[in-house]
Amino acid sequence: MRFYNTLTRSVVPFEPLKPGRVGLYTCGPTVYNFAHIGNFRAYVFEDILRRVLKHAGYTVTQVMNLTDVDDKTIRGARTAGVSLDAFTRPFKQAFFEDLQTLFIEPAEYYPAATDHIAEMIDLIRVLLEKGFAYRSEDGSVYFSIAKFPAYGRLVRLDTAMLKPVGRVSHDEYEKENLADFALWKAWDPDDGDVAWDSPWGRGRPGWHIECSAMSMKYLGPTFDIHTGGIDNVFPHHEDEMAQSEAATGKPFARYWLHCAHLIVGGRKMSKSLGNFYTLRDLIGRGYTGREIRYVLLSGHYRQPLNFTFEALHAARAALERVDEFCRRIQTQAGKNPKAELPPSVQAIRRRFFDALEDDLSTPEALSALFQLVAEGNRAMDSGEWGSENAEGVLNLLAEMDSVLAVLFRGKSVGADSVILELVARREEARRRKEWAEADRFRALLAEKGWAVKDTPTGPQLRPLN
Ligand code: AMP
Ligand code: ZN
Repeated sequence: MRFYNTLTRSVVPFEPLKPGRVGLYTCGPTVYNFAHIGNFRAYVFEDILRRVLKHAGYTVTQVMNLTDVDDKTIRGARTAGVSLDAFTRPFKQAFFEDLQTLFIEPAEYYPAATDHIAEMIDLIRVLLEKGFAYRSEDGSVYFSIAKFPAYGRLVRLDTAMLKPVGRVSHDEYEKENLADFALWKAWDPDDGDVAWDSPWGRGRPGWHIECSAMSMKYLGPTFDIHTGGIDNVFPHHEDEMAQSEAATGKPFARYWLHCAHLIVGGRKMSKSLGNFYTLRDLIGRGYTGREIRYVLLSGHYRQPLNFTFEALHAARAALERVDEFCRRIQTQAGKNPKAELPPSVQAIRRRFFDALEDDLSTPEALSALFQLVAEGNRAMDSGEWGSENAEGVLNLLAEMDSVLAVLFRGKSVGADSVILELVARREEARRRKEWAEADRFRALLAEKGWAVKDTPTGPQLRPLN
């Protein structure tokens, strides 16, 4: 497997720290509003990454934080005249609903920043003790970039050439403002009742320290992959890396993956520009989660993706084509199944997964899927295939969908997503050689009326009656 690592600016082979396991940290939403589909481009890319890793046999521990205290959430709560918790709670809930709408697999952990203030304080204490941080007159604590020569490594800033401009207390700032950034912000009247006690007085954490504390708590000081949108590289990820490595003296994330933006009319989709659609806006206009997911994964994650309604219509048409093929295959499945897929289909399967394992090339994988549809339709039209390949092809579609998660969704084409999920979980158990667990999934499938048979090309499903 190979990924483009922002740290080295090159595509490199992926080797996890511990064989067979991957620790993955993905910057989650700032819960001051509904997430827009630009944000979901990032979460869908991360979901594809997670699913590709799992398909390749890795056990993934994914942590996605919820930023529920920062400049924006505090401002939102104040404007609404409610407590921070009352303000962020509905957006957290909406976020989890939206993840389901887009068939994004749940992460293993969703730590909220407000539940990890103690860990942040500990980290800041270490940074002060080691001399990487200092207290300001007002009771805030800042990270001193001059004390950490490796600062600028991720974004490739030459700190020797740039003159630091002093201090920034805002969570977000530009590269031109190379400056010491806040780890702890002393209470300000604008913060209202949002404040915690610390050895430096009452205040609240800066945004960047939140992700350092939560990633290292769940994944350890050094972990495999850290992801986010490209706008996170500076200052957020640069600052996270600096604080974490300064505190532990160890490398932080080993691979940094960033997705390019979802754009509208040439500009980044963003709350501040007002050019955004939430998932709810689009569902309200009659588009489905799987159509939106399809659009979001149709481009390569490192290329900007232009959002248009034409793209949504094209997604609908493309999915209808695959649905039709799935139905055609399903009506044939179960009759005289052959153990092996035809060589041409095996080649398509390889093309599909090779593409995904080569820096997550979803456009190439979708092209392989449509090659399968075209090839299968042609072979069935000409009588070259009878029913003997149907089960194998159906299982291949399910295997492809374990990553894409756009087929068989919200459509009753035979084995539904619950059944396919059980098959996938049984496969995972088998890969881990947990035979009792695998048998448990076989029994669950039988209860739901499906038999599963293992073949050299993967599991095959058959209705029990
Ligand atoms: P935020 O809630 O602003 O912290 O953003 C959550 C995630 O969405 C981060 O990983 C951002 O980098 C990402 N993001 C924000 N806007 C876009 C966009 N237009 N396209 C892709 N990713 C985005
Ligand atoms: Zn983060």
